[in-house]
Amino acid sequence: MGSKLLLHSGGCHCRRVRWEVKAPTSVVAWKCNCSDCSMRGNIDFVVPSERFKLLGDSDQYLTTYTFGTHTAKHTFCKVCGITSFFIPRSNPDGIAITYRCVDPGTLAHVEIKQYDGKNWEGSYHLSGISSDSKVNAEKAN
Ligand SMILES: [Zn+2]
Repeated sequence: MGSKLLLHSGGCHCRRVRWEVKAPTSVVAWKCNCSDCSMRGNIDFVVPSERFKLLGDSDQYLTTYTFGTHTAKHTFCKVCGITSFFIPRSNPDGIAITYRCVDPGTLAHVEIKQYDGKNWEGSYHLSGISSDSKVNAEKAN
């Protein structure tokens, strides 16, 4: 159920940043408690980066914040400040999509799981999150 890929569209609040992403209609999203995510309040699902496409001139409105290991690229819109997607530390080969920034109507189900970002290394191994950005590691549901 829900493993077939569908084209979702979405973006930031002011709509200067717009994108398309191929993902199932049913996704697992991660709610992370690290210092950055807990302030932003974002809940994201991860896709392989090749399934994500920025549209139009979105690029010129993006800016990037990094901290700590500087692996994660916390992109956000320069105009409205919304992080509609970013490159997560757990999946440098993937894109984390803020599920609430997907246009309404195409995501049928979002299962929210906790990611213990305060204990990042342990959670990384336990969660299996690194497989979320691998094309050949689709889960059965
Ligand atoms: Zn914006």
